[in-house]
Amino acid sequence: MGRNKQTPEEKLRALEKVVERILSNVVRVKHADGECWRYLGGHTEDGYASINGKSASRLVLCVRGMPRRPVSLKDNPDWAGHLSPMICKYEDCVNPSHLTWEKPDYERRKQKRDRQLDPAEVKALFHKHAVKLLPASKLTPK
Ligand SMILES: [Zn+2]
Repeated sequence: MGRNKQTPEEKLRALEKVVERILSNVVRVKHADGECWRYLGGHTEDGYASINGKSASRLVLCVRGMPRRPVSLKDNPDWAGHLSPMICKYEDCVNPSHLTWEKPDYERRKQKRDRQLDPAEVKALFHKHAVKLLPASKLTPK
């Protein structure tokens, strides 16, 4: 006598409930580049948001990402990474718009790099690129 197997729809609904729980348990931190949603629940040793032993940011990205992706690592081996350091400032941020799919290991390497960067240097680099992408002349009204 076992439990009834969940249909894919039931699984998705259960997952959506978990994600709603995650997103209702955050503190919103505004900063110069946007707003991070820092998770108030469990954390991993590395400081990532964690719920029932699972990566909270991964669950959020699976359900709220465009398009949605399966939760199982077998069907979706990519990792949920943060758009740091320019957009996202916190490893425990679960703001869906601050998350992105990355190949495994990329996030770890990027974090190491982020820690080595001086914030002022990052800002300067960003503005240098922004000017390149969007020349001042384009911003001037005719
Ligand atoms: Zn963030």
